[in-house]
Amino acid sequence: MRTTPQRHRGNRVLSVVIGLVTVYLLAACTSAPTATAEPTLTPVPLAEGERLRVVATTTVVGDVVAQVGGEAIDLTVLLQPGEDPHSYHPRPSDLTAVAEAHVLFVNGLGLEAFLDETLRNAGGDRPVVSVSEGITPRRHPRNPDQPDSHVWFDVRNVMVWVDNIEAALSTLDPANADLYGANAAAYREELEALDEWIVEQVATVPEENRKLVTNHPAFGYFADRYGFEQVGTVYPVSPSAEPSAQDIAQLEEAIRQYGVPAVFAENTVNPALAQQVAQDTGVALVPLYTGSLGGPGSGVESYIDLMRYDVEAIVSALRGDVGAGGGDE
Ligand SMILES: [Zn+2]
Repeated sequence: MRTTPQRHRGNRVLSVVIGLVTVYLLAACTSAPTATAEPTLTPVPLAEGERLRVVATTTVVGDVVAQVGGEAIDLTVLLQPGEDPHSYHPRPSDLTAVAEAHVLFVNGLGLEAFLDETLRNAGGDRPVVSVSEGITPRRHPRNPDQPDSHVWFDVRNVMVWVDNIEAALSTLDPANADLYGANAAAYREELEALDEWIVEQVATVPEENRKLVTNHPAFGYFADRYGFEQVGTVYPVSPSAEPSAQDIAQLEEAIRQYGVPAVFAENTVNPALAQQVAQDTGVALVPLYTGSLGGPGSGVESYIDLMRYDVEAIVSALRGDVGAGGGDE
């Protein structure tokens, strides 16, 4: 079950990163393109004692950038814990941070709908690096012409992020390349261990129970990688698009038909609708972390925390630990 995170490693990604980010921006936004980027990354002339100023969009991207950049970078993360990336709007302080940044790291694949507006209003000029560059995206389940942006739910994809972040930081700030390389190597080992742990955990769930009903379609990569079937979602497209009464009726029918024991809600979206579905069908409502980390003290303050939390919640619910008489945990 060991994986091969090496598949996208190397500096060669840099030559195509910028161009493809521009393509995604164009795809994600119907207005005129405003995000013009430099064709390649070049070293930033830093003054004595000055650190590379790095901005990341989501809390998940921000954590992975922090793991690689460590103390060598001055990192600002735009979204706060608990904020939903699908419905986010930039604050004035975000525009200032972006305007002053040496580099902006984004999830890419259309997740950051706010990005084009942010870049347009921030002004200035800095490279935009999609950490997901090199990942072959799944298609969005309801919009096949859109990529599925939730790549972080397959740990191997985050290993690609690490490669891209290491390559970009090392090019922009070559004096700290050894440090970035060492940080990235240590973090890759943690991600390898996380991926193996997830596979082991999922193996404890009877195969016929590996069915997911989640709040919105965020778990496609997770389902593909770790062997789950996505039976349905409360919000069929995105949390910002309300489902119809017929959508809900079909979902509840599927839950009954498949005998799914739980509906999974998420930390960034009002759970009222998921709660209603769980109540109507008499199944458990189990909260997960999806597009954002938790706040300080939540216990879900890193990407690895997020995956461990979600996997424990999913495995426990689908194994029937609660109320089925079989579990003792
Ligand atoms: Zn999402």
